[in-house]
Amino acid sequence: MADRFAFQIGATDGAARTGVIAMQRGEIRTPAFMPVGTAATVKAIRPAEVRATGADIILGNTYHLMLRPTAERMARLGGLHKFMGWDRPILTDSGGYQVMSLSALTKQSEEGVAFRSHLDGSRHMLTPERSMEIQRLLGSDIVMAFDECPPNGVDAKRAEASMERSMRWAARSRAGFDAGEEHAARSALFGIQQGSLDETLRARSAAALTDIGFDGYAIGGLAVGEGQEAMFGVLDYAPGQLPADKPRYLMGVGKPDDLVGAVARGVDMFDCVLPTRSGRNGQAFTRDGPINIRNAKFAEDQAPLDADCSCPVCTTWSRAYLHHLVRSGEMLGAMLMTQHNLHHYQDLMQGMRDAIGAGTFAAFQRDFDARYKR
Ligand SMILES: [Zn+2]
Repeated sequence: MADRFAFQIGATDGAARTGVIAMQRGEIRTPAFMPVGTAATVKAIRPAEVRATGADIILGNTYHLMLRPTAERMARLGGLHKFMGWDRPILTDSGGYQVMSLSALTKQSEEGVAFRSHLDGSRHMLTPERSMEIQRLLGSDIVMAFDECPPNGVDAKRAEASMERSMRWAARSRAGFDAGEEHAARSALFGIQQGSLDETLRARSAAALTDIGFDGYAIGGLAVGEGQEAMFGVLDYAPGQLPADKPRYLMGVGKPDDLVGAVARGVDMFDCVLPTRSGRNGQAFTRDGPINIRNAKFAEDQAPLDADCSCPVCTTWSRAYLHHLVRSGEMLGAMLMTQHNLHHYQDLMQGMRDAIGAGTFAAFQRDFDARYKR
């Protein structure tokens, strides 16, 4: 039988690393970008097309799935993979971040978070134990510990109390995950470092998580409005506080230049709604930076979205056609923009993996910056 979870680093270049995570449902090449499949679908694109962009793993959202169709129904239907038709690894978040950002009337305590559904106002409770149970019912391959993500700009005292609670919840998550013996034998559990923008708190969080022991470690609490400079400031030290032989996952990031800067600082995994959500809104990512295809200047532009992109969209259709589709509100516009953007992100990850393997990551980063930020 294939490994439950094994991370092999193939090459390093400065702080950047490239490697492979082996799991029973397949290998994940790192640095990896995970498209977000919130409600058991990566919006506007079929699973086979997601795979064809180069994605090895996708992300599912516990908060959305527990409310609809519910974790229990998903389990009766054979789990998330079968339900949505994606047979490769899936990482699920814990629901902790989204319950605070999306639901109404939340009430936090040491036990967990009580809340009302944003869909129908129904009452629910998320705790570390319940989050582990839901992720098990979904059949997640990489389960995330349940944590508290304080908003950007909280004071030092609150940041410390929140981090300490998250570490107690991390221990409860570990116990809850391990209790699901059959699922735990074929899946992995990641802990999440907190501590806001404070190096000492981050070090304490990393030490607490390492004591508990996880298969991988996420850097949480970033990409919440602090800005790229502050985020890179934390990434200058946070990856180095975490075990070197385990994957490091920066949650909710980001723009292409965020990914390149974070990989340069030692991050291995990412997820973000940006390529899919902004694609549906008419933003295309290109090697020369993002463009808004709705702009009138593209109305008769016969060039592809990105002349150097080999995706099925760029080899078939013009900017003028995509401009027309998006302006007209045609569904195909959202579908094609999503497909190109995901392809672009995966090309970027492949480019970084190749450059790290060849020991030329600094040159890759220079060339990327020169073109993307021009
Ligand atoms: Zn393309």
